[in-house]
Amino acid sequence: KQLTDINALASEYLRLSYHGLRAKDKNFNSALQTDLTPDLIKIEVVPQDIGRVLLNLFNNAFYAVAEKKKKLNGTFNPTVTVSTREQNGQIEIRVRDNGTGIPENVKNKIFQPFFTTKPSGKGTGLGLSICNDIITKGHGGTMDINTIEGEFSEFILRLPRRNG
Ligand code: ADP
Ligand code: MG
Repeated sequence: KQLTDINALASEYLRLSYHGLRAKDKNFNSALQTDLTPDLIKIEVVPQDIGRVLLNLFNNAFYAVAEKKKKLNGTFNPTVTVSTREQNGQIEIRVRDNGTGIPENVKNKIFQPFFTTKPSGKGTGLGLSICNDIITKGHGGTMDINTIEGEFSEFILRLPRRNG
């Protein structure tokens, strides 16, 4: 673990994810928003691991806005937002998209290994189970979801200022 600037990590990986998808599909488009608390305290994490979590959350978010756009064609402005803040001695990172949202019966399965709703070749279903392990087992943190089907999804990561 090393002292890490979570704001820098969040904005770098948001762009990395977006440009990765744009490289594969020139028509793909989304607004990127950052709402980062200035002078956020640095915390001890494994930066590559937190980066991997963020990359998966951003990839999922961009996928969800792309799916919604296919259905609504034209009338929809895809947006993926990352925000950070300090709350009760924890660093909170929120990844939010205004995409498809997650139905209630899907929501309680998404942390299971190999669970995916994506067509074969598009997803392995391993992403969120690995993310959850990295956050909880690897960093003593928590991962929660806020979602309304058809409206938005928001993944909330909370990392303790000190752990292990
Ligand atoms: P994969 O991306 O390979 O499907 P994940 O573990 O990353 O696997 O996600 C599991 C499932 O959770 C996805 O197939 C999808 O149904 C749902 N999901 C995850 N993130 C989002 C999101 N931002 N919006 C809508 N659904 C999501
Ligand atoms: Mg995924």
